[in-house]
Amino acid sequence: MAQILVVEDEESLLQTLRYNLARAGHDVRLSSNGVQALEMIRGNPPELVVLDLMLPGLDGLELCRAVRADTLNPAVSHVPILMLTARDEEIDKVVGLEVGADDYLTKPFSMHELLARVKAQLRRAEMGNSSVRSAPPVLSSGDLSIDVGAHRVLRDGSLLQMKRREFDLLVYLMRHAGQLQTREALLRNVWGYEYVGDTRTVDVHVRWLRGKIESDPAAPTRIQTVRGIGYVFTE
Ligand code: CA
Repeated sequence: MAQILVVEDEESLLQTLRYNLARAGHDVRLSSNGVQALEMIRGNPPELVVLDLMLPGLDGLELCRAVRADTLNPAVSHVPILMLTARDEEIDKVVGLEVGADDYLTKPFSMHELLARVKAQLRRAEMGNSSVRSAPPVLSSGDLSIDVGAHRVLRDGSLLQMKRREFDLLVYLMRHAGQLQTREALLRNVWGYEYVGDTRTVDVHVRWLRGKIESDPAAPTRIQTVRGIGYVFTE
C-alpha cells in the first residue's frame, strides 16, 4: 500500500483510476488541477504521482519540472512520476524524460497495465532507497567521484548537474564496471520496468551521461557501446 496522488482533469478517468488504485490497496488522493496538485505534493509528498499531461492551470510538463526543481526537499524532487498522455497530444518522449517523468502510458490504456506500471515504480523506489542505504558511500573512477547518499557527482572536483535517472544509471553502471549490460537489463534494474519497455530511453540517458562524463562524447571511453547488445562501463 502506498500513498498515490492522481492528477487528471477528465472526471470519469480520475474516478476510474481512484477506484482501481484503491482496490489495489493504495491510499489515493485526487486533483484535477496542476496548481493544486503542486501544492499537494509540496504539502505532503506522496510515494507516486500519476500525472496527466494536459491539465488546466499548470500542465503536466510544467508540474514535473517544478517538482524536480524542488531540490531542497528530496521527498518532493524524487517522487516517482508516471505520466499519462493522449495519443493526439503525444509529445516526444525525450521532452518528458528531460523534465523528469519516470514512465509513460499512452491513453487509452488498460487498468491492468496501469497497475503493473505503478507497482514497478513503487518497487523501484523502494529498491533505490534500500540500495542507497546499503551502498558504499563513495564510488570513484578516474576523475569521477560519486557520493551516492548525497546524490553528488564530481568530475575533476567540479559538481555535475545530473537528473535522478542519469545519476541512478551512472551508479548502476559503475557498480557493475566491466560487465556488459543489455538495454533490457538496464531498463529492468535502473528503471524497474517489469516488461521490455522502450529501450530508446536507455540510449537517450547514455547520451546525456556521455555529454557530462566523457572527454569526447563522440568517442566515448567510459560508457562504451557494444553494438547490438548494450553498454559497458570501463574504469
Ligand atoms: Ca487532460
